Formats: sequence, structure tokens, C-alpha cells
Amino acid sequence: MRIDPATDIMGVVDVQPTFMPGGELAVVEGDAVVPVVNRVLAGCFDHAFATQDWHPPGHSSFASSHPGRKPFETIQMPYGPQILWPDHALQGSRNAAFHPELDIAKVEVIIRKGFRRELDSYSTFFENDRKTTTGLAAWLQARGFRRVFLAGLATDFCVAWSAEDAVRLGFEVVVIEDACRGIGLPGQDGTTTLDAARRNLSGMGVGFVISNELTAD
Ligand SMILES: [Zn+2]
Repeated sequence: MRIDPATDIMGVVDVQPTFMPGGELAVVEGDAVVPVVNRVLAGCFDHAFATQDWHPPGHSSFASSHPGRKPFETIQMPYGPQILWPDHALQGSRNAAFHPELDIAKVEVIIRKGFRRELDSYSTFFENDRKTTTGLAAWLQARGFRRVFLAGLATDFCVAWSAEDAVRLGFEVVVIEDACRGIGLPGQDGTTTLDAARRNLSGMGVGFVISNELTAD
């Protein structure tokens, strides 16, 4: 798949130590995305954006904010169901910074999300009420980008919700599979959130590639 550096952009989602082995909400092999993201960014893209999960203490997505609740339980929030997580991505903490080896030289805009205490935000485009915008769509449109290549953590949450919203906003979307890792919580019918995300995204027309299928002029 050939990259058009003028109208294609890479989106690097939540490549933060908080989501990596040793972090507060560790994704298995989460740190394995870093060299892949760096290689693809260096070799194929002229432009990138990046996101950081960025929560205040006592954030409503933390199980610790709901007495009697445990991480990975689901509760009803005013905006819909919300999975509860361990405390993670605390604003200004070392583990909420970008991974120290992530090369952010080509990152032109950084979107921080989840900073409103009462509202979580998986997607890089909208918070979890699916209405409150992060402003990214307007920025991409103003800059003339048409196709978004997504990488990062976690495939089945922040990457998947970003991909869905990008399709709804009219962008072409491609997920770089080996530049992502997922959480894979158990879902219905013996499937996981990862299976559900792949099925859903494929049905919406999201493309999946592996990094060595990408070429640039
Ligand atoms: Zn979070």
C-alpha cells in the first residue's frame, strides 16, 4: 500500500508507559509497538498526530472512584456504559508521558483526552459521550488530510473508537496491525473485545495492513 505523504497522516494513539508492561494499565507487549511506530513514521509519513490519555486524580473511569467497584467492571454513566479501569495515565506523571523511545519529531499536534473528571475519552475525535469533540477532525480537515493510518494502544479501545469516529467523519481509515496491541477483555459468546473490534471495523470499511506492506515514494 502506497502512502501519499501529502494527504495521508499517521495517528499514534496513547503510546505511554502507563499502558505498557510495568504500567498501571498494562497491555501485553504494549512496548513492542514503539520500534514499529518509529520505523513506519520515519520511512513512510511526513505528518503525524499523537494522543495521550490524560486523567486528573479521582477520574470517573477509575474503579477507585466508585466505592465497592473493581477494575474491569462496567457501570452506567450518564453518557452510557463505562468500563472501570485501574488508576492510570495521571496528568503530569512519568507514565503518562510519551514512551521515552517514541520518536515524536514528525508529530505536529498532540491531543490529550480524558481530562474532564466526569467523562472518559477513548477516541481521538470525541469523548465517550460521542459528542464532545477533541478538535482533531477540524484540524485534519483544515490541513487537507484524507486518510488516517492508526497505530498504538489499545487496538480494541482507543484505536478502535478512533477508527470508528474517523470513518463516520468521512476519512478513509487504515489500522497498522503490528503497530498496535489490544487488551482483549472477555465479551459475549466466548469472543473478546479484540474480536468484536476487528469485526466491527472491518464491517465499516476500515482497512488493516501490516507495517511492511506500506511504501512511500
Ligand atoms: Zn484512560
